[in-house]
Amino acid sequence: MDTQQTKSGSASALVPGASASPFDGSTHRVRRANLQAALQHVYRERVTSRASISKDTGLTRATVSDLILQLVRSGLVREIGPGTSSGGKPPTLLGLNADGRAIVAIDLSRQPFRGALLDLTGGIVQRIDGRRDAVRGDAGVEEVFRLVGSLVSSASAPVLGIGVGTPGIVDADGAVVEASNLAWHGVPLRRELAIRTQLPVTVANDAHASALAEFETTHASANLVVVKVGVGIGAGIVVDGHLHLGDRPAAGEIGHIRVVEPGLPCHCGNTGCLETVASVPSIVRSAAAIAGVDDDDGRPWEVRQLSAAFGPEPVWNAIREAGRNVGAVLANVVAILDIHRVVVSLEIDGGLEPFLDAIRTEVASRVLPDLAPVIDVSAGESGPDLVISGAAAMVLRHELGVMWR
Ligand SMILES: [Zn+2]
Repeated sequence: MDTQQTKSGSASALVPGASASPFDGSTHRVRRANLQAALQHVYRERVTSRASISKDTGLTRATVSDLILQLVRSGLVREIGPGTSSGGKPPTLLGLNADGRAIVAIDLSRQPFRGALLDLTGGIVQRIDGRRDAVRGDAGVEEVFRLVGSLVSSASAPVLGIGVGTPGIVDADGAVVEASNLAWHGVPLRRELAIRTQLPVTVANDAHASALAEFETTHASANLVVVKVGVGIGAGIVVDGHLHLGDRPAAGEIGHIRVVEPGLPCHCGNTGCLETVASVPSIVRSAAAIAGVDDDDGRPWEVRQLSAAFGPEPVWNAIREAGRNVGAVLANVVAILDIHRVVVSLEIDGGLEPFLDAIRTEVASRVLPDLAPVIDVSAGESGPDLVISGAAAMVLRHELGVMWR
């Protein structure tokens, strides 16, 4: 799968005293491909041997031994110990050296922002939350710099790279062209972070990063739609195993499709957009309106807290109505592309099941009767860490050329 928003640096520069990274620009193309194939085998099998890698990749035993020597020296693979002998000398088992590198991942789709340090297996080693009052404009950009700086300085392994998932439209150089929810217009985020940290940086749309995470961790199907519902609404669409980016690239910007005539004004300048009736702030507003209570706009996004403020029924009704609106738009997406698997992320803790049910019912009522039963609308495997996982997956893919599984 391709995401395009990167300028790779050389990881070798980050390992003082260590051998050169096997994947830096000076490595011959064929050798780099062989190293990636061997490492991908280790990623998939978790515990393996040189003989298994040779059998799987078709490379000679001597070549594999040479590649593994380089991967072990560079700290990506480690020897675990002797395996079971099938006659002669027992093979030495190999595994991923999870702590050999750290990955910095940032999720800007949530307020406050969130960041994490991950190991090479995708395990989260450390988390950090941003400040609630620093999510927009220049203060938001500064907050990203602060979170990244803090995570990079606390990493106990060399940092492989930095991945950022952001709302809005991201261009090929990792600049945020437009993210109205963050009040960002033309923010050269990738370039600024790369200059500040001297590390490889990848920036992508949050829904695109989420789709990458879901695709790579589940491999459940070659076609997939991931819908993220938070402050805004966006989708990441995987077609035939490739993330579909589009011309701008802004594929999956479903939040600004009009669903209500004429509808409420949207911050994009139009009226009646999906975001005006199905984003989390609009769900909270709607629950408050149903309950006849003032919405103070500062409540945590949790069903328990919202129910305490507005009563349970208004909250469930608002969530179900939002789900129906999302389902109305999704029906078009799945019918046009013939995609059967839909993963939904909703940033209201405890609110996902009724939301999913409403989406399922609405989609089923709007597509051909024989398509309806095969459409699977479900929660993602990565849960609330979907964007974090996706941002880290981008780094892994761009810097080492491998996928989680
Ligand atoms: Zn709009």
